[in-house]
Amino acid sequence: MLKTSIARSAPRTLGGARIAFRPSPFRPVNSYNQRRGYASEAEEKDVVIIGGGVAGYVAAIKAGQEGLKVACIEKRTALGGTCLNVGCIPSKSLLNNSHLYHQIVHDSKSRGIDVGEVKLNVANLMKAKETSVAGLTKGIEYLFKKNNVEWIKGTGTFADEHTLNVELTEGGERSVRAKNIIIATGSEVSPFPGLTIDEKKVVSSTGAIALTEVPKKMLVIGGGIIGLEMGSVWSRLGAEVTVVEFLGQIGGPGMDSEIAKATQRILQKQGIKFKLNTKVLSGDVSDSSISLKVEANKGGKEESLDADVVLSAIGRRPYTQGLGLDKIGLETDKSGRIIIDQEYRTKIPHIRVIGDCTFGPMLAHKAEEEGVAAIEYITKGYGHVNYGVIPSVMYTHPEVAWVGQNEEELKKAGVKYKVGSFPYSANSRAKTNQDSDGMVKFLSDAQTDRILGVHIIGPAAGESIAEAALAMEYGASSEDVARTCHAHPTLAEAVKEAAMAAYSKPIHM
Ligand SMILES: Cc1cc2nc3c(=O)[nH]c(=O)nc-3n(C[C@H](O)[C@H](O)[C@H](O)COP(=O)(O)OP(=O)(O)OC[C@H]3O[C@@H](n4cnc5c(N)ncnc54)[C@H](O)[C@@H]3O)c2cc1C
Repeated sequence: MLKTSIARSAPRTLGGARIAFRPSPFRPVNSYNQRRGYASEAEEKDVVIIGGGVAGYVAAIKAGQEGLKVACIEKRTALGGTCLNVGCIPSKSLLNNSHLYHQIVHDSKSRGIDVGEVKLNVANLMKAKETSVAGLTKGIEYLFKKNNVEWIKGTGTFADEHTLNVELTEGGERSVRAKNIIIATGSEVSPFPGLTIDEKKVVSSTGAIALTEVPKKMLVIGGGIIGLEMGSVWSRLGAEVTVVEFLGQIGGPGMDSEIAKATQRILQKQGIKFKLNTKVLSGDVSDSSISLKVEANKGGKEESLDADVVLSAIGRRPYTQGLGLDKIGLETDKSGRIIIDQEYRTKIPHIRVIGDCTFGPMLAHKAEEEGVAAIEYITKGYGHVNYGVIPSVMYTHPEVAWVGQNEEELKKAGVKYKVGSFPYSANSRAKTNQDSDGMVKFLSDAQTDRILGVHIIGPAAGESIAEAALAMEYGASSEDVARTCHAHPTLAEAVKEAAMAAYSKPIHM
């Protein structure tokens, strides 16, 4: 349990010597210790977290586990934030079930399964998604209760450095004081200039996971992970999908160029069309359809593309609206991220920031790691997140996953590296499953053989990447992975063989 500020302001002893508590150099003169008189006005917690998304709810549960008096302010009617309500979970439900549908329709005969008439029921597809979301968000509520986390339902705003005013969802206001505050307010969709998102015809990812019928034609602006996942869902269900991407490569930042090209080829085979190096100039929305004017990046003829639904998937931006950061003098950078140090502290050291609203990749598992680490910094003074080993996964079929650096990054940094690749077409399990598109690629240091990056496109790549992440976390070499016995027949054997290819030779190729 954290010491109270009264205890902290009193002289402390360390190894028998008396030491005086010295306020942090960051701490302003009107600090918490001098404002104890306000305590009666508002209830006081050890930690209050603003935002019940992955970053916030994980921090809250961890704080509860550590015995801290903790509250989490969340304005949504369900916990779990973007990830559980409108992000990772609902999109994966649709990806999984649309893949099943597509497989039943197009890929069952050769497996000895003759199916009769197959009918898609979009309403029930959405219901299945909602059932998963409801189950998981309720699960967080249960974990809050189990770990004595109070959920304050409402919108939190800073009144001062230690006090938050909450506009309660059910009406009225409440004030809560905290020794430590963690901001975990997440992110929101970046708007596309000139296109108004109505979540019906012009949709963000939030609208794309809630369409009531399959569009005939769908245009996706942005060939990053979210655009390709949602494009895959609606393409599998029958929409004619075209992805317009400004860059010359799909997949967004971090995806290895060779893997991105392979991904594009496979998605094209599945029916998705791509327009790379192309910029969207403007959009014209009418009752019946939408027309986008596009042009090649390097100039050229304008072209019009028509669709019933346009998905704008150009990225997300940090969300800090209404927090009242200016009231306590906290700043954001040009991209809207709240500025912090390596222990997630703002310049007011008892206020920390984690998750999408600050630096680093906007990923749920990164947010989760930070939630744990932030609480450990508070309770123990140290925490651990290895930003060099945060995996990324795109849940298309096949999945694409990677961890560490890609070839382009290594070249740019002048690092000498070795490459070991192994195709799933030579992996017995993938062959048996008739699902053998893709490959595993190891990049390891030319001298030491230490793994620098692993890139996978293939079945269950999102699961296989965990092995690579673990190996990298422990500073393993590709030989370490290659000499580890992998069960047969498994997709994981492709990981082992790619590691073998990096330090010596694979057996099955
Ligand atoms: C379609 C889609 C698919 C995705 N898929 C994946 C995936 O497969 N894997 C992955 O790792 N990531 C994925 N992401 C990203 C992932 O959802 C985010 O990285 C993650 O949710 C970030 O967590 P967070 O807690 O920082 O923010 P959020 O989840 O955005 O949570 C912030 C919460 O704070 C609340 N809040 C904000 N301001 C206040 C306030 N003043 N008072 C009270 N409450 C407030 C918000 O209501 C929100 O619930 C996806 C995102 C999208 C949109």
